[in-house]
Parts: sequence; structure tokens; C-alpha cells
Amino acid sequence: MHDEVGLTTTVPVEVLFAANCRPVDLNNIFVTADDPASMIASAEEAGFPRNICAWVKGIYTAARRAGIRRVIAVVQGDCSNTHALMEILESEGVEVVDFAYPYKRDAKLLNEQIDRLCSIFGVRRAEAEAQKERLDAARKPALEIDRLCWQEGLATGEEAHLWTVSSSDFNGDPDAFALEAEDEIVEILCREPQKKMLRLGYAGVPPIVSDLYAFLRSLGAEVVFNEVQRQFAMPYETSDLVEQYTRYTYPYDVFHRIDDIIAECRHRSVAGLIHYVQSFCFRQIQDRLIRERVDLPILTLEFDRPGRLDASAKTRIETFLEVLRG
Ligand code: SF4
Repeated sequence: MHDEVGLTTTVPVEVLFAANCRPVDLNNIFVTADDPASMIASAEEAGFPRNICAWVKGIYTAARRAGIRRVIAVVQGDCSNTHALMEILESEGVEVVDFAYPYKRDAKLLNEQIDRLCSIFGVRRAEAEAQKERLDAARKPALEIDRLCWQEGLATGEEAHLWTVSSSDFNGDPDAFALEAEDEIVEILCREPQKKMLRLGYAGVPPIVSDLYAFLRSLGAEVVFNEVQRQFAMPYETSDLVEQYTRYTYPYDVFHRIDDIIAECRHRSVAGLIHYVQSFCFRQIQDRLIRERVDLPILTLEFDRPGRLDASAKTRIETFLEVLRG
């Protein structure tokens, strides 16, 4: 039986696998639950305010329902709400391990953080580095599904989203994850390329609503670039953990994210970008910078709670696609 360790965002999971622990991305537990809306309600009953990001409340309930005893809190590079969330969890008996991505992606500071994580989990750094090869082998088929989406038109944007977003914890078992992804690739390769679709990019944290990708497809549009999800799958060839986690764009300043968005949208011939912003999230402020610097038509979509697209969002999406086609 492996010790389960809850994650609130992507961390160097190589350390956890070296320690024979099982990482559990609490975001994934929340958003794939049968009743994510009731998980928000449970957190609000436990005292979380209504005007706080729903992901924070979902993570809280996911951790409590799953009986998670230890959580890694990314105290720099993810979300300022994490601080208070961790205080609540700690007050309820959950052990909290803090991890910080250095603001200026300083390699020396990141190296120290990874060493510290190794020491807390009782593994040598070399053992964590050795896990990199194993996890890279699991990331590879997830990234191949992404390629089969944008380059071959065989996989859907939603499939690329799901496989790359799941690379944060590999559903707890990277070897099984890799086998499942390879089976999926075999199935995908048997398909006919889909008819010509309008090519979209998606920037921002993964959507909290369940039917965005399906709705876009029903209108003849496909997401061929999932920005943050692709980052979770560590899309760059790197030689060690410090290089890998300094190239990972999400936890640092928005400007490297924007460079990645511009380069990939160009590379993938994207016609328009959806920038998803979560209600009550500080990242909404960055919408201005993305709009100023990314030279593409951009639709900013904001959602609060889990569920399906409402009529107003559908109308905005339809209008955006009409403009792109025009
Ligand atoms: S969406 Fe924003 S506010 Fe919510 S958990 Fe993520 S970073 Fe924090």
C-alpha cells in the first residue's frame, strides 16, 4: 500500500514516486467526481465563502472525502488561496508540506526546493532524478495524443486535454498510465482524419464546465492547443529535474506563458484563442496582458461552478466562431 499524497497543482512528482508514494491530484478528483457541485456546497457548509474560487473548495472537499493525510502545498507559483486552504486542512489534522517555485525561475533556488522535498520524503536526489526517465516514458504517449490531435486531426482536443491534464499525477501509476495511453493511441490511429474544423487554442487553467469541448465540436471547431494542460505533460526534452521544472511555464510569470502561447498557436495554425478565466481567480488580471500580446482574435470565457455551459456562454461562443469564419 503506497502512502497517498494530495497535490493542489503539479509538483516534481519524481520525488514522490522515488519515495514509493502515490500522488493524487485533488483537482482531478474534484472535477471528475459524479457530484462536483455538491463538493462545492460541502466546502461552503464547512465555512468557505461563496466568493472564493470553486477549485479551492473542490480541492478541500476532495482531500477530506478521500481521507488524504498529507498534502503538498505550492505556496509560490500557483495560488494565493492555497495558504488559507492549507491552514484549514492543517487545523483538521492533515500534514502540509510546502513547496515554492521561485518567482524568477531561479535554477539554484529551485534546486534547493527539490532537494528539500527529497529530504522531507526521505529519498536521495539521484533516486528522484532516476524516476524522470520512467515518468518521461509515461508523458510521451500523452504528448503523442496531443500531436495526433493538432497535426493529424485524429484525436480530439478533449482527448488531448484529458491525457495531458492527467500527467500531473498519472492517476497514481505511471506505468499503467503509459500502457492505457498507448492502447488509446492504437484506437486513435484506426480513425479517419476528421473533416476540416476551425482550429482553436485554449489558454488558462482547465475548464470547470464539462461540455465546452463537445459544444465547440458540435459547431465544427476543435481545440488543437491546450496551453496549461500541455505544460502539465512537460513537453520539452530536458536532462534533469531543474531544467524540466524551470522550463515548465505555469508557475512563473505570465510572459513565458505568453511566449509559449504565441509560438504554439503559430506552429499549430490556430485561428482564434479561448482564454478561460475562473471566477474569483487572480489570473483574470493577466487577461489584459494576453490580449495585448497575442495577435489573434480572443474570446475570454469566465465560469464559476461545475456544470454545463449556460445559454449566454453558448451565444458568445457561437458569435466568436462566426467572426472567425467571417
Ligand atoms: S483557478 Fe485561480 S484562484 Fe482557483 S485555484 Fe486555480 S489559481 Fe487559485
